[in-house]
Amino acid sequence: MLIELKGQPVSQKIQDEIKQELQSWKSQNISLPKLSVILVGDDPASQVYVGHKIRACENLGYTSEVLRIASTITEADLISQVKKLNQDDSVDGILIQLPLPQHINERRVLETILPLKDVDCLTQSNMGALVVGNSVVKPCTPAGIIEIFKFYNISLTGRKIAVIGRSLIVGTPLVHLLNQENATVTLFHSKSQDLLNEIKDFDIVCVAIGKSEYFKITDFKKGAVIIDVGIHRDSHNKLTGDVVSVSKNDDSISWLSAKTPVPGGVGPTTIAMLMRNTFQVAKVRRNLL
Ligand code: NAD
Repeated sequence: MLIELKGQPVSQKIQDEIKQELQSWKSQNISLPKLSVILVGDDPASQVYVGHKIRACENLGYTSEVLRIASTITEADLISQVKKLNQDDSVDGILIQLPLPQHINERRVLETILPLKDVDCLTQSNMGALVVGNSVVKPCTPAGIIEIFKFYNISLTGRKIAVIGRSLIVGTPLVHLLNQENATVTLFHSKSQDLLNEIKDFDIVCVAIGKSEYFKITDFKKGAVIIDVGIHRDSHNKLTGDVVSVSKNDDSISWLSAKTPVPGGVGPTTIAMLMRNTFQVAKVRRNLL
C-alpha cells in the first residue's frame, strides 16, 4: 500500500528543533533572527507563498518584514533596495520572491544579495559553496526533500535516483545534495531523449518540471518512490503536481511504494528549510556558529 510522504510532520520536527535552540537565545537576551522579504508586483501565487513564509517566522518568534514593491520598479532601484538591506545590521536574511517582472535581470539582482544574507542559497557564491559541501545555507526545496527522505527512513546510499528538471532552484542543487548522500544520481531535462523509457529503471524519482500532471503513476517503475515538487493551480482553484495524484479507486494506489502529496508534500519542508537557513545565517552573524 502506498505511503504518503507528508511534509507537515517533517516541517514540524525541523521547526521544533529550531524553537528548542531559540530558548537559550531568549534566556541570554540574544536578538532573534530577522527575515526581510522583497515582493515585487502582485502575482497572487507569490503573495500566498510570502504569506506562508511570514507566518512561519511569526510561529518561531523571528522578526520579519515584507517590502512590497510595484512591478514598474527599475532594476537599478531594486538593486538599491537590496543593497540597503545588505547594510542594515538588523536584517539577517534577505529573500527575493521569484519570479521578478520580465524587464528585470533576475541573476543581476540575486547577485547583489550578500552571501551571508542569502537565505534562499541562490547567489553564485553560495551555490559554489554547496557543491564543495561547505555552505552555511542550503537551497530550501532540495534540502527539504533530503529531510523527507531522512524522516521516512528512505535510504539514499547507493540508490539509483532520477532527478527530472535542472532549474537552479530545484533540480541542479538537488543532484548535488543527493550525491552528497551517496546516491547514484541521473539528471534528466527537457532535451533528454526517451525519458519515459529511461525513468522506468529508477527506484526513486524526483520530478520538478513545472508541468501540471505531466506524468502518470504507471510511467514509473512499480514500487518506486516519487517526490513531486510541482505545484500548479487550475481554473477551479485545485492544486496539482507534475505527477497525477494517486487515485484510491484504481491500480495507481498499489503501483508506487511512496509519494509526496500535492499539496502537503514538498511545500511545507521548503518553508521549514527557509526557517533553518535564516537561523543559520543569524548564528553566523552573532558568532554563534
Ligand atoms: P523551471 O521551469 O525553472 O524548470 C523546469 C525544468 O524542467 C527545466 O530544467 C526543464 O529542462 C525541465 N523540463 C521541462 N519540461 C520537461 C519535460 N517534458 N521533460 C523533462 N524535463 C523537463 O521550474 P522549477 O522552478 O524547477 O519548478 C518546477 C516545479 O516545482 C514548478 O511547478 C514549481 O512551481 C514547483 N516548485 C515548488 C516548490 C515547493 O516548495 N513546493 C518550490 C520550487 C518550485
